[in-house]
Amino acid sequence: MQIIIHRGTHQIGGVSTEIRTAQTRIVIDMGDELSPAQGITPSPLSIPGVTDTKGFCDGVLFTHNHADHVGQLQSIRSGVPFYMGRLAKEVLRESLPRRTGVLLKTRLEQARCFVPGRPFQIGDIAITPLSVDHSACDSYMFLLEAEGKKVLHTGDFRVHGLRGKAVPKIIDKRVGKVDVLIIEGTTLSRSDSIPVSERQLQRQLKEQMLNYKYVFALCASTNLERICAFSKAVPRGKYFVCDAYQSKLLDLLQQYWGPYSPWYRNIKKVIYGSNLQARLKERGFVMMVRDNQKFRKIIRSFDPQQSILLYCMWNGYLQQERSTLPSFLRLTGQWASLHTSGHASQQDLRRIIEKTSPRFVLPIHTDFPQRLQTLCPREHVVLLSDGETFTL
Ligand SMILES: [Zn+2]
Ligand SMILES: [Zn+2]
Repeated sequence: MQIIIHRGTHQIGGVSTEIRTAQTRIVIDMGDELSPAQGITPSPLSIPGVTDTKGFCDGVLFTHNHADHVGQLQSIRSGVPFYMGRLAKEVLRESLPRRTGVLLKTRLEQARCFVPGRPFQIGDIAITPLSVDHSACDSYMFLLEAEGKKVLHTGDFRVHGLRGKAVPKIIDKRVGKVDVLIIEGTTLSRSDSIPVSERQLQRQLKEQMLNYKYVFALCASTNLERICAFSKAVPRGKYFVCDAYQSKLLDLLQQYWGPYSPWYRNIKKVIYGSNLQARLKERGFVMMVRDNQKFRKIIRSFDPQQSILLYCMWNGYLQQERSTLPSFLRLTGQWASLHTSGHASQQDLRRIIEKTSPRFVLPIHTDFPQRLQTLCPREHVVLLSDGETFTL
């Protein structure tokens, strides 16, 4: 078995990993790069047989639908099948910008959807998609078994999210010991602190509702589990408001995950309309907003002294060149940050490594892979370069 990290050995995002046996060749994720100054940047990948016809590829698997993992989907040549979660596909389809070409939309329709926890086969590789918690809903780890070896590819994940506690249990129950652990290491370059949990964020939102009648929340529209938790924090008598686009995404969450858990059912929401203005003013609300002219106008129509804007995204976006977010946050009398990372803390990375006791650990999705060697001195952490072949 051979593993090649085409991109992501020394950077966060833009990742792509190849795993091949004597007969079968698969790729996991094909993402765009994340530039600290500009955010997501179109970043073509060149993988023989995947992006051109110089070879073969039996399939591309996507861990989740963040652009740093799925952004190069359109460069997969026709004839190569690709796979993702059902909800991830539906949310991606809904959230593609209107200017997206027909080609990508048509290509997305061809995505094959796997079922959480149900193994499937590509060539001689058995793949088990394991549903995990991350800031994009419908994210997966992949357990790959072939040639008598086990490889776990974690994708982006965390343990402090709403379903995070299930991650170590899933590892115990479905994975066990592996030969190779390909693990994301986003937080390796950040401080080694205990992250705020999504439950704590929900409580913080409730506290803000006691102090402010009009609570606006700026959150990634596809961070659906957080938004669902926010909606459930709104007491009877107040409104949970969003626009038609956000409402549609929440409907998809209810449709596809409602059967798994009552938590995702009965999401009470109203779609903003000027006809509701008087009732909203009278009762108060939590409103999911985005930085555009429509929402700027809506926010200005409420008393700024009774309003707060909660910034529920990564602070780095505020520093990006030409960011309009700082002026957006000044629309209300005050704003506050209400956010936690979508990525496993250093302690949780160590915990997952201990649980899987791998022969080799390959860090990806990190700009500080060396840190994993000091964090886990007893483990065999292999630092690869992009494009280098690791033979097991
Ligand atoms: Zn990522
Ligand atoms: Zn992600």
